[in-house]
Amino acid sequence: MSDHRTPSQSDALPHEEPDVAHVGAPVAPAPLARPVPPDERGDQARPPVLLAVRAHPDDEVIATGGTLAKYGAAGWETVVVTCTDGAQGDGPGGVKPGEPGHEPAAVVATRHAELVRSCAELGVTHLELLGYGDSGMVGWSANDDPSAFANAPIDEAAERLAAILGRYRPTVVLTDDANGGYGHPDHVQTHRVTVAALERAALPASLYFAAIPRRRMRDLFVAAAAAGLDVAALGFDPDAPPDPDFGTDDDRLTTVIDVRDFVAQKRRALEAHGSQVDDSFFLRIPEEIFTLAFGEEFFVRSGAAVPERLETALGVAPAG
Ligand SMILES: [Zn+2]
Repeated sequence: MSDHRTPSQSDALPHEEPDVAHVGAPVAPAPLARPVPPDERGDQARPPVLLAVRAHPDDEVIATGGTLAKYGAAGWETVVVTCTDGAQGDGPGGVKPGEPGHEPAAVVATRHAELVRSCAELGVTHLELLGYGDSGMVGWSANDDPSAFANAPIDEAAERLAAILGRYRPTVVLTDDANGGYGHPDHVQTHRVTVAALERAALPASLYFAAIPRRRMRDLFVAAAAAGLDVAALGFDPDAPPDPDFGTDDDRLTTVIDVRDFVAQKRRALEAHGSQVDDSFFLRIPEEIFTLAFGEEFFVRSGAAVPERLETALGVAPAG
């Protein structure tokens, strides 16, 4: 595979006029979070900035898309940094890497276009690409490709991300947790690189790790099964003990963001990734289950004690 390490590219997204149908229910701009005092930001004209570092094109949607849309609608600047090119995603008709018809360069081009559309649906103001190669799932041959993100030296990748952080000076940064949610090498690397980059950039940003709460996921599958969905086809077994390598213990969560008003945007963003989600379980589930599944986004705030009640906004109180 050719060298995927392209220079950092910045795509200023087409700025769309506010569109009520697009944004969902009106959202009051003020109460989301304490605005950062201008003297701490060094730039009085700019709104606060929410920056999400995501592993692949499409990762911006499920765990963080509603939060991006909500804060964007409230006047924050929103930035998505996508670390990999998504070359190990499905090709046309769902063909997998290594199968006939899977052309990595074409997959990359398709997924880039989808990412731009998805970000536009979510009202994201800036998209940044680190352009590393997609490492594929654990055990795939792409794991050994030297251009794969998971093989990138942390220092080098962190330096590049720190330069982006320095440009946007985010108020809040969202990224993967240490296990990448479910152990995907690129998600684990995304966590490591983000933590290292924030240290380098020495910014007073609040850092949050996107979380998939295990207990809630289980409840969701039970509800989906009750609604007649074939959850067994997804490998869900209600009698199995929770998988410690998947998701986050619900008792470790610090923060929940209510994004029910942004679920329609999130669904359109997911639909924008048509090459990956053509026959997606997520897009076939009924509206109310979709809202149940995607109407809240959960986070663990780095360095913060677990609060008595989950925080319902980003960056409100000092960590700890
Ligand atoms: Zn991913």
